[in-house]
Amino acid sequence: MLKKFFQDLFLCFCLVFFLFIAVEAEKLGNFRDDLTLKIFNEKCGIEMMTQLLYQKYPGAQPGNNPAFHELEEFTAEYTSRRKSDSRNLSRISSGELKIIPIVFHIIHQNGEENISDEQVLSALQVLNEDFRDNNPNRANLVVDFQGLEGDAMMQFALPTLDPDGNPTTGIERIYDPNFEYGDDFLMQETYNWPRDMYLNIYIVKHAHSDGYAAYSFYPSAVNSRPELDGVVLSHWACGTTGTALWSHYRVIAHEVGHWANLIHTWGDKYAVNNSKACRTDDLVDDTPNCIGLKGSDPQAGPDGCNTEYESCTSLDMIQNHMDYSFCPIVFTLGQCVRMEACMNFHVSDRDYIWTYENLVDVGLAE
Ligand SMILES: [Zn+2]
Repeated sequence: MLKKFFQDLFLCFCLVFFLFIAVEAEKLGNFRDDLTLKIFNEKCGIEMMTQLLYQKYPGAQPGNNPAFHELEEFTAEYTSRRKSDSRNLSRISSGELKIIPIVFHIIHQNGEENISDEQVLSALQVLNEDFRDNNPNRANLVVDFQGLEGDAMMQFALPTLDPDGNPTTGIERIYDPNFEYGDDFLMQETYNWPRDMYLNIYIVKHAHSDGYAAYSFYPSAVNSRPELDGVVLSHWACGTTGTALWSHYRVIAHEVGHWANLIHTWGDKYAVNNSKACRTDDLVDDTPNCIGLKGSDPQAGPDGCNTEYESCTSLDMIQNHMDYSFCPIVFTLGQCVRMEACMNFHVSDRDYIWTYENLVDVGLAE
């Protein structure tokens, strides 16, 4: 009798335990779903963070900052020159392949934000696939846009030497309880490596306290603030494995696009999904006018992109990396030329980071 009692007790215990596990798993699943929904409209915080930058450093504002006009004038002239170059018609951009040293600073509190090397390397792989027109879903590019895609001829590589000439893997792990959030300028000011030598990527628990998945700045905005030049990613918006969310696998390409002076496909005058954006432009000729985002349904999963959406009387290029959709595949050739111009101009040292001299200094060339 006593034995039966203990057997029943044990069974009850098991039942309660498994119920507890099921409820917790459900909660975790909901949390991840909620996170995906929360960030549906908040993939990138460049606009919010740029306003913050202007408040703190008024000299960074376009009206006070000659770098904006110098870079845009150079880009317009460079683009015009490339348009008259017959090589521009080639799918493969004719620019010289640029190797860009990239360092990942993982700022962590010993939690899941201290992501694995494997996850970091998966982000690097995404970046190199997307900047060389080699996205794994490349065959799914809608017919209307085939032939517009470009190879940015930019390849990102982990350095083997740090700024002091000491060995590095290019993945730096820093325990710091002060920076759970990446929107504290002090975080970048504390941990940046020289931006003329490395593209700084920061991986944090939360890129922004309002929930933005990631952000970076345009090169002109940080021309006089080298310590704030880089990309900040939430750990779940970095790479394709570990803690990464499927909806944000390729965010790094979007943010590095900004780093190389690309604007959202709907322009930078209005927030995403504002019909007024049909009247503004991203300063690139071959990206269709649009208001962004509408063609993507996060609840429909990875196949939820509406590639037939027209927000401004023509087909949206929802598969562009500079949209907010969950199915980015390409940069256009026009965007590649815009980035190429930026990488050939002195603003924010973009014309130095890929030089042979620098590659020697970071251990990527002899
Ligand atoms: Zn963005």
